[in-house]
Amino acid sequence: MGLGMSRTVVIGAGQAAAACIAKLRSLGHDAPITLIGAEPVPPYQRPPLSKAYLKGEMALERLFLKPEAWYGENDVELCLGTRATAIDLAAKDVMLDDGTRRTFSDLVLTTGSSPRRLRAAIGGNLGGVHVVRNLADVDAMAPAMQAGQRALIIGGGYIGLEAAAVAASLGLEVTLIEMAERILGRVAADETARYIRDVHASHGVRIREGIGLERLTGEETVSAAVLSDATEIPVDLVVVGIGINPDTALAEAAGLAVENGIRVDARGQTSAPHVWAAGDCASLPYRGTRIRLESVQNAIDQAECVAANIAGAAKEYDPKPWFWSDQYDLKLQIAGLNTGYDHVVTRPGTSHWYYRGAELLAVDAMNDPRAYMVGKRLIEAGKSPDPALVADPETELKMLLR
Ligand code: NAP
Repeated sequence: MGLGMSRTVVIGAGQAAAACIAKLRSLGHDAPITLIGAEPVPPYQRPPLSKAYLKGEMALERLFLKPEAWYGENDVELCLGTRATAIDLAAKDVMLDDGTRRTFSDLVLTTGSSPRRLRAAIGGNLGGVHVVRNLADVDAMAPAMQAGQRALIIGGGYIGLEAAAVAASLGLEVTLIEMAERILGRVAADETARYIRDVHASHGVRIREGIGLERLTGEETVSAAVLSDATEIPVDLVVVGIGINPDTALAEAAGLAVENGIRVDARGQTSAPHVWAAGDCASLPYRGTRIRLESVQNAIDQAECVAANIAGAAKEYDPKPWFWSDQYDLKLQIAGLNTGYDHVVTRPGTSHWYYRGAELLAVDAMNDPRAYMVGKRLIEAGKSPDPALVADPETELKMLLR
């Protein structure tokens, strides 16, 4: 296909989309690009939404990944406030809800994910009930975060814990409930959960584990919550952080293979040639299995790999997972994925090192950036230090890299 006919269309204007487009341009790929995004704003950073931005400590302009003018200057057509409604793989075009269509030579699906919500039948639609995913969600919630208000946070994942930290810091009375037996069940070990639970307790947050929500009650706005142990607590504000679902409907309707997320190969290609996916919405091969990686690292790196492949590189994506979370003065940094660990070694400082047998899988570091850096380098190099050396505070961290 001649360059005149080629156009890359990107659906979903989040972090992965921005990374893919920026990489295409930095690689010198000069075919026109169309970016389609349902939100009315160009791509922005999501991590601050549950942290500095929610707390009112970060200006809106600083969230944007590129100034809006950059897109025009780089031959990127921005279709914002616009949804793609269908993909025709045979005709290679995408239909938009404004009635227009775009023909593509390559299509990138960076559709992301949507927060799970509470059912309307248990009060999920009452006023004062918030999710934390988009700028609009946070703009709606931030004004309600007033000192003295009673906040109920549902879910003890990163969203719930970060929102709890912001609310407590702003002087709200905060209760967090987690249905599972402990917080951070999906992402961190018991030792890390214990550390974080203590930090929250020291800021007056009540964390109740093994407790679900029965229902929320109120006239138009939420005023109380009935919990699974039948206790009823008065609430002014509810934050729901009970996980996400990948946005795969468009891909599925187009006939692309979907397996938890949009199925991609190591190069980021879906079941159709020249159709790619990256970020939260994509299910990728990883060490003999398939995973979705819900992290900003993955959104960026996988999308950049896709960009390189559109430009002809035939490159395989090798995920190097890392995560972080800010809560109060605590910076939790995680390198690697702990899935399948059988024991945890604690290094004073504090960091938790996850092993499967003799293999180091992941490191959780709490206000310990050096342990994080060393752990990350070891994991990326496939090196596993002797756990006894890790646990010994006399061992210098950098010695472990030898
Ligand atoms: P999450 O990590 O999936 O955590 C949701 C938690 O809520 C789980 O522990 C879940 O328990 C629990 N839960 C589910 N239903 C519940 C209910 N009815 N009552 C009480 N607890 C319930 O998801 P999230 O915290 O909502 O975060 C959403 C996404 O944003 C994730 O992709 C996350 O990684 C990302 N994020 C990341 C960061 C960061 O990296 N710092 C910060 C914010 C958000 P079960 O597992 O038992 O269902």
